Amino acid sequence: MNTRKPKILIIYTGGTIGMIENPETHALQPFDFSHLMDNVPKVKKLDYEIDNFQFVPPIDSSNMDPTHWRDIALAIEENYDRYDGFVVLHGTDTMAFTASALSFMLEHLCKPVIITGSQLPIGEVRTDGEENLITALQVAAARDEKEGRPRVQEVAILFENYLWRGNRATKMSADNFNAFKSFNYPELAEIGLDIEYNKNSLRKMKPHPLNVCTDMDTNVMFLELNPGMTEQTLDYLLHTPGIKGIVLKTYGAGNSPSYPWFIKKIREAVERGIVIVNVTQCVNGGVNCNLYETGNSLSAAGVISGYDITSEAAITKLMFLFGRNYSLNMVKQLMVTDLCGEISSPTDISILQNFSDH
Ligand code: ASP
Repeated sequence: MNTRKPKILIIYTGGTIGMIENPETHALQPFDFSHLMDNVPKVKKLDYEIDNFQFVPPIDSSNMDPTHWRDIALAIEENYDRYDGFVVLHGTDTMAFTASALSFMLEHLCKPVIITGSQLPIGEVRTDGEENLITALQVAAARDEKEGRPRVQEVAILFENYLWRGNRATKMSADNFNAFKSFNYPELAEIGLDIEYNKNSLRKMKPHPLNVCTDMDTNVMFLELNPGMTEQTLDYLLHTPGIKGIVLKTYGAGNSPSYPWFIKKIREAVERGIVIVNVTQCVNGGVNCNLYETGNSLSAAGVISGYDITSEAAITKLMFLFGRNYSLNMVKQLMVTDLCGEISSPTDISILQNFSDH
């Protein structure tokens, strides 16, 4: 049995958890890591070795972009062999995007990367930050007693009562302490009196060196359908300069208008080499293009199915695949392939086993 103290690296990026009120404007603004730790003296009771890496200055996660994702991924890569696990403190607003992006960037990850934050600042009496931070540290330190390997071998979001797969989670509430949910994938753990791990939903990785790929191509966008969208608007958006990939947020099981002008514009965009991925606006369930004629005409126009992927995972996956300079066909093939648990895909990953070699 391993009796060594767990070694955890906390990566503090900012977010409400570490914010304080600006005395003049009364708006919350990010504050430094020492303030955060001063408010959680209980952490010392955990018999862990804890170090930190901080963003200077810490940021509101609405200001996160792929350069920040790269900074987090590189901090993990540089420290990978020296720590048992990583806790990333992050604002809730774009947490699901960061979690998804990191899941693609950290290929062959075998250690826990637990992202958490809070709805109330750590200095508030009723803060949820203290509990989230302590539980995140415990999850990052947890090992399977029989096999000795980390319990969690993936990027996950810990919030209040649940641990979710990072690329399956979505922020679902602006004010509830249970702010995240994964609508298409079961929880990785339930947090109550004990932390109950759900063995069947956790990823089991074979030991493999970590491979970090941080290039993201940001020439991608969401195009969310609404009834009444005009031909002119659609045309304008589909001609966004430099655009390579579009996550088309459709109705229900992947449906869109079937008017000839609509389908024609979409087909022409596909023919211009734009990868269009069909993702439902619904939080639960996925795209099934064979269910209705309105979904069928999209696939006939060359739109690919996102199945049950979240929109956060879809857009970051497009950035990641274009960032690797794959051919158009490869991007399309990998979009419908499960790379790290982000979709329940019908494509067998074995045909594309080592996607980093392509
Ligand atoms: N605006 C904050 C952020 O995302 C909200 C939060 O942390 O809950 O950084």
